[in-house]
Amino acid sequence: MAEKFQAVRGMNDILPEEAHAWAFLEAVLRHWLGQYGYLEVRSPILESTGLFTRSIGEVTDIVEKEMYSFVDRLNGENLTLRPEATAACVRLAVQHNVLYPGPQRLWYMGPMFRHERPQKGRYRQFHQCGAEALGFAGPDIDAELMVMTARLWALLGIKEVTLEINSIGSAACRARHREKLIAYLELHRSELDDEGVRRLHSNPLRILDSKNPAMAHIIESAPRLTDDLDDESAQHFERLQFLLSSAGIPFVLNHRLVRGLDYYNGTVFEWTTPLLGAQSTICAGGRYDGLVEQLGGKPAPACGFAFGMERLLALIQETQSITIPVSAPDVYVVYQGEDTQPAAFLTADALRQAGLAAVLYCGEGGFKNQLKRADSSGAGYAVILGEDEIRNQTVSIKPLRGQGQQQTVSLTHAIQLLKQERTHA
Ligand code: ATP
Ligand code: MG
Repeated sequence: MAEKFQAVRGMNDILPEEAHAWAFLEAVLRHWLGQYGYLEVRSPILESTGLFTRSIGEVTDIVEKEMYSFVDRLNGENLTLRPEATAACVRLAVQHNVLYPGPQRLWYMGPMFRHERPQKGRYRQFHQCGAEALGFAGPDIDAELMVMTARLWALLGIKEVTLEINSIGSAACRARHREKLIAYLELHRSELDDEGVRRLHSNPLRILDSKNPAMAHIIESAPRLTDDLDDESAQHFERLQFLLSSAGIPFVLNHRLVRGLDYYNGTVFEWTTPLLGAQSTICAGGRYDGLVEQLGGKPAPACGFAFGMERLLALIQETQSITIPVSAPDVYVVYQGEDTQPAAFLTADALRQAGLAAVLYCGEGGFKNQLKRADSSGAGYAVILGEDEIRNQTVSIKPLRGQGQQQTVSLTHAIQLLKQERTHA
């Protein structure tokens, strides 16, 4: 036998049953985002490498070690499989002058790629859904983004989530804080891990984002950005908290929350859950007021979030917070004898035209085998065509679940009955 191929490590196949759950979630998300007036954008999964190095920042996990970057050998271009979509979304908005008429609320969903160590909730191809509010300066939009995610968890029946917020202030106040932080971390240099030492001068703020438990106590007592916040950021953050409280959204202040990407400023937030082990963050976001300008657009403030769809699905499935309907046809059409096959074809199509999902048995199998298939299809009913039925211009309907008798009726009557049953199901 020929050697089998395997999917690339850390990249998941999604099989039919699972794909059905994905499609269900995607439909919920689409509707939910539409309710808040967010408009979908779709950008390519490949972008110029420079887009990510400039926006996410050279000294970050993503750019240093997680990007799938390569040189296109046909034309020498430096390309990267997108590790996230905020930069791509802003690139799209700048390229097409999307902000010309005014601020825009946008959303996307799709696959992202990061070369990480695969484990539960952490993959090399994963999916994010995100919203980006471009051109909005105030804390009202920050609050809206948090309120709408809270609404999504409620829609999905998810209760075990906590909103953590922080403000990392303006670039100027981060620069001031950076000096203090470096001085503090220098004192504790011997307790830093290798990555910490390496980042001490290049990206000390990022050390605060470390998940190494051995450094937890150093991080805990590090100088807090919130203590150095400029007036404008402090007022913005105050107002955000006020708006969240008025909307009845509980939150906790996490002064250690800094986010790992360079483009963030001011408000940052994460939704976390204790239910997914080490991968506790399901949604993350914040303001990135400088990014549009940094990517060549006219200056425009912005705020957004993204959540991991694998983690969200895992959370739904783990807690059974909602029942995802299973995919099954309404009816399964079987027939007795080769001569009845053409009639079975027509009947199946008539059922579909009437709005029912009808699967027709195809293959060589005998009648018993066909009924077995009908049963395992999950359909509620089998529609049977035998020679008697053809002669009398009728069909038989056989309930496949629960009680109920087989009955032989006209096709029109059968359609009526089956449609009624479906609305009751
Ligand atoms: P983490 O701290 O878990 O590595 P991150 O800060 O790198 O997350 P973001 O870049 O903020 O994550 O992405 C937002 C969300 O996307 C995360 O909260 C998570 O739900 C999801 N996500 C990120 N990386 C992965 C991955 N490798 N596999 C699955 N989901 C992921
Ligand atoms: Mg990460």
